[in-house]
Amino acid sequence: MNLLRPGQDGYAEEAAGFQTAVPSSPAVVVAAESAEDVAAAVRYAAEHGLRVAVQATGHGLTAGTDGLLISTRRMTGVDVDAAARTARVEAGARWEAVIEAAGKHGLAPLSGSSPDVGVVGYTLSGGFGLMARRYGRAADHVRALDVVTADGELRRVEPGSDLFWALRGGRDGFGVVTAIEFDLMPVGELYGGSLTFDSADVPAVLRAWRTWSAAAPDTLTTSLAMVQYPDLPMVPAPVRGRHIAQVRIAYLGEDGDDLVAPLRATASSLLDTLRPMPFTESGSIAAEPRQPHGYHGTNATVSQLNDAMLDAIGEHAGPGAAAPPVLIIDRLGGALARTPETPGVGWDRSAEYVVRALSVVGDDGVATVRRKHTKLFDALAPWTTGRLLPFVYGEHAPEEVAESVFPAADLRRLRELKRRYDPGTASGPGDAHPGRGNGAEIVAIYSAGRSDR
Ligand SMILES: Cc1cc2nc3c(=O)[nH]c(=O)nc-3n(C[C@H](O)[C@H](O)[C@H](O)COP(=O)(O)OP(=O)(O)OC[C@H]3O[C@@H](n4cnc5c(N)ncnc54)[C@H](O)[C@@H]3O)c2cc1C
Repeated sequence: MNLLRPGQDGYAEEAAGFQTAVPSSPAVVVAAESAEDVAAAVRYAAEHGLRVAVQATGHGLTAGTDGLLISTRRMTGVDVDAAARTARVEAGARWEAVIEAAGKHGLAPLSGSSPDVGVVGYTLSGGFGLMARRYGRAADHVRALDVVTADGELRRVEPGSDLFWALRGGRDGFGVVTAIEFDLMPVGELYGGSLTFDSADVPAVLRAWRTWSAAAPDTLTTSLAMVQYPDLPMVPAPVRGRHIAQVRIAYLGEDGDDLVAPLRATASSLLDTLRPMPFTESGSIAAEPRQPHGYHGTNATVSQLNDAMLDAIGEHAGPGAAAPPVLIIDRLGGALARTPETPGVGWDRSAEYVVRALSVVGDDGVATVRRKHTKLFDALAPWTTGRLLPFVYGEHAPEEVAESVFPAADLRRLRELKRRYDPGTASGPGDAHPGRGNGAEIVAIYSAGRSDR
């Protein structure tokens, strides 16, 4: 087991992640290479009274850790069973590796907008992907998980067990997943890309996209992003200094050009990248940043997208807004609205859209960003139905997050299971249980009395 402490060579690199706005200074980092390493790390944490956190990429960090951090980035194995249309991947694998391996067999995973994101953290969060309206959440297609629980045992978790339910959507707190098995889809190609429109057309494009996406077939998954690009030389000329609206499209059909004709007719676009493409190029649709940075993000699922809401979105995040966030609206529905055969922790399946805001955290800190986001989401409150865990970034109030992302009945069940599988967690804050011997405490956003982390 490779243990790293502050000041040792490799500690800083191993503890660092994509999210730089969440302070994290673990007492110990374990650079795990195998499931056995993970089990040994969890037992070590139990013996030394250290809370356990886990990180693959740091794309989804919501709260820092001062305990023991298990870094899974070396556990990158990916095995595709083309005949069974399944993949088994280790805890540190990113989507990019799975997309590549599956693509060789004309198959695709239920990956999201960024191929850099970790498979396990994404899937345990629910996983809203490029084909979500056709196939549902990534969590809905998990076959099995290998997980080291707080007692240091490596268990195989399959449908029918309560841990299987909890891990698929409840994400953290029940153990450290060492490998995951899931379905691949028979998709080699898609029609995808984006249409980018200039500031003056943003209000018309918002309304046109709303009408168009409301009637979308399940084979279309689409979002609309509004981004204020800085007037800097490294920004591509067509969007430099402009506040644009970008319609992103992933469509599983032959008639993509016909489908998007109404959007192309709305206004002339600054950029049009729509084309048939191999799924292996699907990361180009949103072309998200690959450099680590500090950001804060939140979201709201909504029951509709009416004019008052579009006006509020325009006021707080459209052209002319002061310091606007990146704003993304995703069309939900389709397979996302149907309950899967093996239900995991829920999100609101009746919601029609999710509205997300994301801001870079500047010198004035996260509180400024949070205040700005709050104004936008307060305006959407009358139509808000919930919040999606994967799109909560850098939030430091875990209890509040838990209450907004999990339906009340699911949250109760998560807490009960947490007490059963990780009994040390039930005691009060500040009690570190040195050497208590009944298992480690695995950090979870829903542990009662843990609002300090
Ligand atoms: C650029 C970008 C694009 C994104 N696009 C999408 C998208 O299209 N759809 C979507 O649904 N989400 C998306 N996300 C959100 C992403 O799915 C979540 O943030 C996810 O939690 C990231 O997982 P990770 O392993 O990469 O990150 P990490 O920060 O390494 O992990 C995040 C959390 O997952 C848990 N976790 C990670 N590994 C394990 C493990 N082995 N065992 C137990 N728990 C574990 C831990 O709680 C950890 O804190 C995006 C995020 C970013 C930054």
